[in-house]
Amino acid sequence: MKEWLIIGGGIQGITLACYLKETLKVHAKQLTIIDPHKKPLTMWKHCTENVGMNYLRSPSIHHLEPQAFGLEAFIKKQKIKKEDAFVRPYDRPLLSLFNQHSDKLVEKFEIESSWVEDRVCGLSKTSFGWNVQLKSGKEMTSKRVVIAIGLGEHPLWPEWATDLKEKGAEVHHVFEESFLTNTTFNKSIVIGGGISAVQVALKISQQSTEKVHLATRHPLRTKQFDSHPGWLGPKYMRAFIKEESIEKRRDKIKQARNRGSIPIELRAKIRRFEGEGRVHSFVSELNTSHFDGELVHLTFKDGTVWSGKQIILATGFHSTAPGMDWLNQTINSRHLQCHTCGYPILDDHSLKWDDQLFVMGALAELSLGPVARNISGARRGAEKIIRAAY
Ligand SMILES: Cc1cc2nc3c(=O)[nH]c(=O)nc-3n(C[C@H](O)[C@H](O)[C@H](O)COP(=O)(O)OP(=O)(O)OC[C@H]3O[C@@H](n4cnc5c(N)ncnc54)[C@H](O)[C@@H]3O)c2cc1C
Repeated sequence: MKEWLIIGGGIQGITLACYLKETLKVHAKQLTIIDPHKKPLTMWKHCTENVGMNYLRSPSIHHLEPQAFGLEAFIKKQKIKKEDAFVRPYDRPLLSLFNQHSDKLVEKFEIESSWVEDRVCGLSKTSFGWNVQLKSGKEMTSKRVVIAIGLGEHPLWPEWATDLKEKGAEVHHVFEESFLTNTTFNKSIVIGGGISAVQVALKISQQSTEKVHLATRHPLRTKQFDSHPGWLGPKYMRAFIKEESIEKRRDKIKQARNRGSIPIELRAKIRRFEGEGRVHSFVSELNTSHFDGELVHLTFKDGTVWSGKQIILATGFHSTAPGMDWLNQTINSRHLQCHTCGYPILDDHSLKWDDQLFVMGALAELSLGPVARNISGARRGAEKIIRAAY
């Protein structure tokens, strides 16, 4: 029987694996990570590359290993100048170097020898720990289980876009695994008003034969981070944890998230591209959509009419709790607590949901606050789980 089994090998699951290896010296044989992809961090690499992100939005101390300055030390060791690795403000790392550092950790901690390419579809309690049922029909047992599944597999599709796709129009979501943006585009429109929408519009405009359109529902909002840095520490988290009403915590998370916002330098870049005639952005809500068999025709409430070939959605992820298709049975049989929004109610200190069952990442946001889904949330989650386990 394994000591630890992590469901999901994204940023969250791999951060925990690094912490287990470094802090608790957990042996590869005592750890299993189950994920349907061939390699760790597949969704992270796909999403960030597909939007054309060059630098992370988060600062250099947010990475996957326990030592706060691990990424800086890695860059120093490679003799890369700091100014070539990080961008101001807040020393945000180049995505390629962040990924190299993450790959190095995967190699150093032999994470792939704990990797099982499969999908969890059931979880049941036994007298010694947990039994995990896999899509392949196999079963695995472990003393402890950590659910770290994230939202990566749940891109949000507006209903009108699904309808158009069903009628044969070329509609993609930038986070769809089968859709790659490193190709040539023509007559395209990007739908969305956040950082991913702006990044992808910039990316495809460099590969497009024609001007790329960007439709946003609101004027571009500038915010450096996706939530106030006060959420990274006790400044805001102390009051959040003291709040006993889960409903109020949910409201606080909603208010704290700078949804649909972009850092100021990205706004400057999109304005430059607009000035050069490569991008045309406008603010309006969709009114009607129609596919004539060759072109898609969209009309917007401000009177804008767009006809073209490709619609690229950058409309983010579903806000509903992921994994409930297979977790519901465990929730019912073990009487696990969930809020009305569907998200687990955990022990705030340990992220425990049941005996030796832990949750991190998006599903732990009612305990970890608005940064739960981010790299800093992964670090906070890993620290809590490790502290609680011994
Ligand atoms: C474009 C983009 C840029 C971002 N930039 C930053 C940034 O700069 N800084 C920052 O802090 N955060 C950033 N984030 C937010 C966050 O860090 C990422 O979304 C991150 O990928 C979340 O990691 P995760 O492990 O929760 O989810 P995922 O990356 O989705 O990984 C979860 C894994 O679990 C697997 N899985 C799901 N269900 C099952 C199952 N039943 N059985 C087994 N495996 C399963 C999935 O297939 C997937 O591989 C960014 C997000 C995006 C989309």
